[in-house]
Amino acid sequence: MTMSCKVTIDPGHNAVSNVSPTNKKYIEGVQMYKLALYLAEALEEYGIESEITRKSIQEDPSLAERGKLAGKNGSKLFLSLHSNAPGTNKDGSYDTSISGTYVYYSLTDSGNKDLADSLGKAIASAMGHKFRGSLTREYSDQHKDWDYYGVVRNAAQSGCKAAYLIEHGFHTNLKDSNFLLSDSNLTKLAQAEAKVIAEYFGVGKSQKRYRVQIGAFTTNASAKNYLAQAQAKGLNGFVIKVSSKLYRVQIGSFSVRDNAEKYLAQAKAAGFNGFIVEAGI
Ligand SMILES: [Zn+2]
Repeated sequence: MTMSCKVTIDPGHNAVSNVSPTNKKYIEGVQMYKLALYLAEALEEYGIESEITRKSIQEDPSLAERGKLAGKNGSKLFLSLHSNAPGTNKDGSYDTSISGTYVYYSLTDSGNKDLADSLGKAIASAMGHKFRGSLTREYSDQHKDWDYYGVVRNAAQSGCKAAYLIEHGFHTNLKDSNFLLSDSNLTKLAQAEAKVIAEYFGVGKSQKRYRVQIGAFTTNASAKNYLAQAQAKGLNGFVIKVSSKLYRVQIGSFSVRDNAEKYLAQAKAAGFNGFIVEAGI
């Protein structure tokens, strides 16, 4: 897939915020980070390249940095991942009954609403609650043409107008927060989102695989021995029998070439030489 399909994924907040006031196990910045990793993986299945604004779960770049990354890396889509919390009632309590998904989209392009609706419906369906709607939000009376949310505003102003902030349910609602605490649910959610995004880009699941070849041997035993050395360094791979006299050792399997390049760099750092090969599946 070409660079034109790149997506910047922004898991909101950081490793310690926001803790749900009604479900202490739930930390928005942790669960959204996990969702971002699953989404990147699900997009990779379609050959869609992505970059996550937080390079580790601990990282907490500014809202401006997160948004501007989309312009910098040439993304065609920016998604900030969040879960919602309702305001406190007058007595300080939370309304735990409120549930459902909202999608905010950049007001800089009215064409953004279609994808917002599609994402919202897919997420609400996966989470088993209602889609509450797609909205825009203005910065202020003085700046009606600016987006309210910092990440959305910065993404749009840096050149990625297809910028969205998704509230995946309300983490003050027990059903919503418990749903988001499950890794298998997050995987399903990511797959549902990736499917919508792939349709938006007009791409199907990629048939192409890129692998890193690190060696070729005349015997299966030598190839297996070499693979074991790679595995000892944390690299995953396999031996491919080409003929009774040729066995190739290949590691990784990616539909995005860039990801194979990164794996090759990792292999080189671990002391293996190699190159990228294309394989059908
Ligand atoms: Zn948030």
